[in-house]
Amino acid sequence: MLTEAVINELRSIVGRENVHAGPAELVAYSFDATFPQHPPDVAVTPASTDEVSRIMKLANRERLPVISRGAGTSLSGGVIPLTGGIVMALTRMNRILEIDHVNSCALVEAGVITGEFQTRVEKEGLFYPPDPSSLAQCTLGGNVACCSGGPRCLKYGVTKDYVLGLTIVLADGQVLEWGGKLMKNVTGYNLAQLFIGSEGTLGTVTQMILRLVPLPKFRSTAAAFFPKLTDATNAVVGILSEGILPATLEIMDQLTINVVEQYAQIGLLTDVEALLILEQDGNDQGAVQREVEVMAEVCRRFGASEVRVAKDAAERDQLWRARRSISGALGRYRPSKLGEDIVVPRGQIPAMVARVKEIGQQHGLAIPVFGHAGDGNLHPNILFDMRNPGELERVQAAAADIFRAALALGGTLTGEHGIGTLKKEFLEEALGPLGVQIMRDIKQALDPKGLLNPGKMFPTPGGSALESFITALPTLEGMTPG
Ligand SMILES: Cc1cc2nc3c(=O)[nH]c(=O)nc-3n(C[C@H](O)[C@H](O)[C@H](O)COP(=O)(O)OP(=O)(O)OC[C@H]3O[C@@H](n4cnc5c(N)ncnc54)[C@H](O)[C@@H]3O)c2cc1C
Repeated sequence: MLTEAVINELRSIVGRENVHAGPAELVAYSFDATFPQHPPDVAVTPASTDEVSRIMKLANRERLPVISRGAGTSLSGGVIPLTGGIVMALTRMNRILEIDHVNSCALVEAGVITGEFQTRVEKEGLFYPPDPSSLAQCTLGGNVACCSGGPRCLKYGVTKDYVLGLTIVLADGQVLEWGGKLMKNVTGYNLAQLFIGSEGTLGTVTQMILRLVPLPKFRSTAAAFFPKLTDATNAVVGILSEGILPATLEIMDQLTINVVEQYAQIGLLTDVEALLILEQDGNDQGAVQREVEVMAEVCRRFGASEVRVAKDAAERDQLWRARRSISGALGRYRPSKLGEDIVVPRGQIPAMVARVKEIGQQHGLAIPVFGHAGDGNLHPNILFDMRNPGELERVQAAAADIFRAALALGGTLTGEHGIGTLKKEFLEEALGPLGVQIMRDIKQALDPKGLLNPGKMFPTPGGSALESFITALPTLEGMTPG
C-alpha cells in the first residue's frame, strides 16, 4: 500500500522535488496519446539506474505496481496506470553519454528525446534511422519498449535492429547489463530482444547502446497523386517489384490528404484518392535521383495523375512536416480517434485498404488510412466523438473487424504501436493459446508479483474486447475528448 512512509522513502531516493503526489501533478501522468485515463498514486522522476533500482526494490517489498514512462506518446493505452501505483518517468535520464565513432554506436540514457538524439549524431556524420512521427517528443527508452518504427524502417529496419546493449532494472530491483558494443553476439539467448517491445511489462530500460550507421549524403523525395486509391496501392507493389528498396514509401488516402492540407497548406492536390510519398537516399546523387525517377515512372504507369519531385530540402521538409502532422491534424475532423497499426504482407495492401473502406461504410464511421505502405504497416484511424451515445461501441466493432481482416490476410495486430490496453483481448486470436501461454510463463519468471505495467499486453481472463475497451475509458465529466 502507498503510505506516507513509502512516499517519504521515495523522497529519500530521488529527492523531494522529484516525487509528484499532488492531484494536479498526477493528472500529467494519467494519460497517453489515446483516450483512456487514470491517475497513478504517485509519480517519481529518478535520475540514475541506481535510483530506479532502489525504487523497484521498494515497490517489490510493498507490492506496488510500477509503470515505466517516457514521454507518454503511446498509441496503445500502454502507459496509463490503470490500477494506480507508481509512475516512474525516465525523462530526467536524458543524457547522451557517448558517441563512439570507432565502434559506430552511442551510449544513451532512456529519457533522451529521439529527435534530439538524431540531430546530435547527424552533426557528427552518423545516422540513427528509426523515425517515429512523434520523434520530437518520444524517448529512446519508450522506442525500445515499443520497438518503434517509422517511415524509414522500410529500408533501415526498426528499433530492434539498432539495439546492441541494454541496462535493465528488473522487477525485484536487480540490474541486468546485456550485450555491448558488439556487432555480433550469439552468446546465450538474445535477452535484449525479449525486452525490446515488451512495453514495460518485463523490466525498466535505463540505458542503451545503440548502433549507428553512416549518414547518407543525398536524399530525394517525391509526391505521387493518384485519382484512384487502388492504383496507388497497386503502385506500392509495383515499385517494390522493380528491384528498388526505397528509403520510404508512405501512403495517405483522400480524407488524410484533405485534413493535412487544411492544416499544413502546402498545396497538396485534394481531389485525388491517394498520395504516395517516395524517398530514396544514398551517397551517389545520380543513383538516388535515377531511382526516384524510376519510382515516379512506375507511379505514372499505375495511374498517377501527377508526380512532384521536391526541388530542394525546404520542399522535402515541408512534405515531411505534413506527413508528421497527420495524427494531430485528424483531430480537426472529429474530436476522438482510435489509431490502429495493423500489418499485412505487402502483397495484401490493396486488399487490406479495400477492407478498411468497407468496414468504415458498414459501421458508418470515417476511417482514413495512412501509413508505411512499403512495409505493409497501415494506420487506419477510426474517427469518432465519444460523447455520442453508442458511437464507441461501433468504433470497437470496427476495430475488431479491422484486426480480424488483417489476421485473415496473414497479417498481425500491430507493427509498431504495441498491444497496450486497447488490443490485448485480441492477443490470443493473433498468437494462439500456446504463444500467449509461453508469454505468460516468461512474465511469471521475470515479474512473479505482476507489478510491472499491470493490465497491459495480456488478455484479462474472462474479459471481452468490448469490456476492456469501455473500462479503459476516462470519466467523461469535465473532460475534453481526443
Ligand atoms: C503523433 C504521434 C505519432 C506517432 N508516430 C509513431 C510512428 O511513426 N512510429 C511508431 O512506432 N510510433 C509512433 N507513435 C507512438 C509512440 O510515439 C511510440 O510508441 C513511442 O515509442 C513511445 O515513446 P514514449 O517515450 O512516449 O513512451 P511512453 O508512451 O511513455 O511509453 C510507451 C510504452 O513503453 C513503456 N516504457 C516507456 N519507457 C520505458 C522504459 N524506459 N523502460 C521500459 N518501458 C518503458 C511504457 O510503460 C509503455 O508501455 C506516435 C505517437 C504519436 C502521439
